[in-house]
Amino acid sequence: EWVDYIRFLNRVIDRFEMTKDESIVFVRRFPKQPVYAEVDADKMTQVLDNIISNAIKYSPDGGQVTFKVVLFQNYIETRISDQGVGIPKESLEKIFERFYRVDKARSRQLGGTGLGLAIAKELVEAHGGKIWATSAEGKGTTIHFTLPYDRDQKDDFS
Ligand code: ATP
Ligand code: MG
Repeated sequence: EWVDYIRFLNRVIDRFEMTKDESIVFVRRFPKQPVYAEVDADKMTQVLDNIISNAIKYSPDGGQVTFKVVLFQNYIETRISDQGVGIPKESLEKIFERFYRVDKARSRQLGGTGLGLAIAKELVEAHGGKIWATSAEGKGTTIHFTLPYDRDQKDDFS
């Protein structure tokens, strides 16, 4: 269905905002105008839930989670950045594989199965997008994903 992606994103983030520990701070950097995109809202909610729950789970107290949306001609890039433990370079691609977890001991303590990002990848790719991670160990992680978008089509909706 066609949705205003920014409005949609704000609603998902608001839901986390209500339940998260208050020591974690959310920052949103979004375009001011509506951004119409064709997404399956349930599936995209699942993608965001999996990424945001990681950002919170792997963040220290007082950590900041930043949400950013950047518009390109043919796609939207969403970036979700945290100030957590980070991910070693050799694991940056593997975290999207089923059951892969970076630090087994730490991960076991934090709980989970190692499926969240594999599911997110499957769902983003089903939308025609890409997902990847960048990270500086000890400083934080950014999960990036894209969705198809037609910048010139937006006038049809205004
Ligand atoms: P699940 O999501 O199934 O509950 P999980 O969080 O361990 O379990 P994924 O979400 O697929 O599984 O993440 C895979 C692994 O990638 C994690 O175990 C963790 O090691 C690493 N990881 C994911 N997101 C982050 C992040 N924001 N910061 C640091 N490490 C991360
Ligand atoms: Mg997870």
